[in-house]
Amino acid sequence: MLNSRLTRRAVINGVGAASLSLPLRGRGQRRGVTETPKKVVVIGAGIAGLISAYELVQRGHKVTVFEARMRPGGRIYTLRGLFAENLYAEAGAIDFGDAYATIMRYVELLNLPVVNIPVSPNRVTYARGHRYVTAQEREPPWPYDLSATERQLGRAGIWDKYVVSAYNDIADALSTAWPRAVEREFDRQTLNAFAAHRGLSNEGVALLRFTLSGDDYDHVSALQTLTTEAFVGKNRKWMRIRGGNDQLPNALAARLGSGVCYGATVVGVSQDPEKVRVSLSTGAGLQQVEADHVVVTPPFSVVRNWELDSTISHAKRAAIQNMRYESLTRVYVQSRKRFWTHQGTKTGTPFPIFLSARCSTTPLSKTARMESSKRKSNMKRRVRCGPWYPTIAFVGR
Ligand SMILES: Cc1cc2nc3c(=O)[nH]c(=O)nc-3n(C[C@H](O)[C@H](O)[C@H](O)COP(=O)(O)OP(=O)(O)OC[C@H]3O[C@@H](n4cnc5c(N)ncnc54)[C@H](O)[C@@H]3O)c2cc1C
Repeated sequence: MLNSRLTRRAVINGVGAASLSLPLRGRGQRRGVTETPKKVVVIGAGIAGLISAYELVQRGHKVTVFEARMRPGGRIYTLRGLFAENLYAEAGAIDFGDAYATIMRYVELLNLPVVNIPVSPNRVTYARGHRYVTAQEREPPWPYDLSATERQLGRAGIWDKYVVSAYNDIADALSTAWPRAVEREFDRQTLNAFAAHRGLSNEGVALLRFTLSGDDYDHVSALQTLTTEAFVGKNRKWMRIRGGNDQLPNALAARLGSGVCYGATVVGVSQDPEKVRVSLSTGAGLQQVEADHVVVTPPFSVVRNWELDSTISHAKRAAIQNMRYESLTRVYVQSRKRFWTHQGTKTGTPFPIFLSARCSTTPLSKTARMESSKRKSNMKRRVRCGPWYPTIAFVGR
């Protein structure tokens, strides 16, 4: 049973009481097991927390995972039981590619079945109120006022010239010199500004922005966008787990067993040179547990509301406070048949499903709040009459 709620006794006895400390591979394969096991608290049973906990347990540490919800998986979440028999829908992560080395490793380790996502022969595109159905490798007559060169390049050519060509300018983020002057420079501007500085016209930028699928690119740094896109571009095929992606976190959580405590919401973390203290709210009230180390995996939009002591550096606090997150709304529609395949669009739909109304969860200053309420009323107008539509996911036999 996944649902091992934290009991008062487990908390009073300390972290080890609800933790798992046996290497999971069995005695024959105990290479790399530490001789000085530590008590480790992992906060969050999303994929990051579960993999961290799994690896720490493999190395012989005493690990307890505290998870606020009553299920593992976090943003990997498969909706079940809401649709006709055997139909399910992904509310979070949909697919992963062959360059996702970590995910691929655990999919193999846990023997989970994968399905390759087919490439559709056709693509349906909505741009500025026009709907185009084109073969995958062809481009529609973009309703953008592009220069002759830009029109010749098309969306794919513009992408290569202004985005892909910059990938090699960015050094490995794990190298000691990182970030160098060039990465700092990329970090100071959005990708739109980056492309505009390199000569892309406003209309070309609009097309690029369309390719990137979202308003967020008006805010995210070019460094982040380029790094992510370079990684995405390395994937040659895309997959999902047959029967639902939640099987990955579920299988990891099952291996961790009672080491995962559900319904345990962390509200603060403090540390001194000896120990880390984690304050949490459970069915049994407010508790505090001590550990040698803590691994924090919830998004910063959560962590910024915790009580963090002054040992957390100013730079880390600033990162936690200011990291930008997007909200996304998905609407699910069930149908008897996958009617959209008639147009050769295997993985898409013939509907204008482009973009949801979005809002940032970055905390706002008073001025920014006023700006934001102005923007929201503009957004309402745009959602009604503009080219953006809510995201719709179709679930069909
Ligand atoms: C709609 C959507 C679609 C996506 N599509 C894709 C995709 O197709 N491919 C892809 O690779 N990625 C996709 N992603 C991103 C991917 O799902 C996430 O990057 C990944 O799941 C994040 O895992 P994580 O463990 O870092 O965080 P999370 O999954 O957020 O895990 C954090 C965990 O911490 C728990 N928690 C939060 N607060 C507390 C607290 N106070 N105390 C204790 N526990 C707490 C949460 O309940 C959660 O279980 C998508 C995400 C979303 C939302």
